[in-house]
Amino acid sequence: MAISEMNREEPCRSSPGNGPRALILFGAPGSGKGTQARLLSEALGIPHISTGDMLREHIQAGDAIGKGVSGTMGAGGLVSDQLVSQLVKERLAQGDCERGFILDGYPRTRTQAETLDHMLAERGVEPVVIPLIVDYNIVIARLSGRSQCVSCGALYNVTSKPSKAAGVCDLDGGKLIVRDDDRESVVRERLDAYQRKTKPWIEYFHQTGRRLEEIDASQLTPAELVARIQVTIERP
Ligand code: AMP
Repeated sequence: MAISEMNREEPCRSSPGNGPRALILFGAPGSGKGTQARLLSEALGIPHISTGDMLREHIQAGDAIGKGVSGTMGAGGLVSDQLVSQLVKERLAQGDCERGFILDGYPRTRTQAETLDHMLAERGVEPVVIPLIVDYNIVIARLSGRSQCVSCGALYNVTSKPSKAAGVCDLDGGKLIVRDDDRESVVRERLDAYQRKTKPWIEYFHQTGRRLEEIDASQLTPAELVARIQVTIERP
């Protein structure tokens, strides 16, 4: 769906007079975090910085960084704090981050959080930390009902977006399969892991006096959610 169609609540662009903003997004698998980061980036006119995307770009480019991280990433581990913080530091130094940025997937360790604190202090930016809260039953229904075309990658969902013929892609007739990581037991595991890893962050940001704005993302459309986040961050 085009962004223009999704933005039915018409969130306003932030005015250039606003100070720079740093948004730190957290969200469980299936919370819509990636979609939100992209929509917010469009609505606020500030870049979406995903450390996962940056690392994948290096892997695709086949450069030294990519070669160095591909094994760790393939095994689901975390790459070194030093490397990932250096990538973020270099990215934040680019001109398009002057008005602000949206961080997605960083920080992920305490060292990264402390490094980020320094980077933000140097820039004089006070972040808003936004954990997207989702009802696990809704996410499990969303993700475990999902299937994907083996040839073109189109996504379907048994309840919200079924294909016309069961198991067959509407676009190219390809076979629809359920990805291994979308099976219910795996989805539950991913959600539990997220819960375990994220709670300490909420605590960390709380203790360091950061502004925390938990938003219930369970029942909202992408456009409603982006509008809700905008209203929340505009509040003094
Ligand atoms: P993501 O797309 O955010 O799920 O990240 C994909 C993979 O990239 C992770 O499983 C890690 O291997 C690596 N990665 C991304 N961000 C970080 C980070 N902040 N610290 C360490 N590893 C990361």
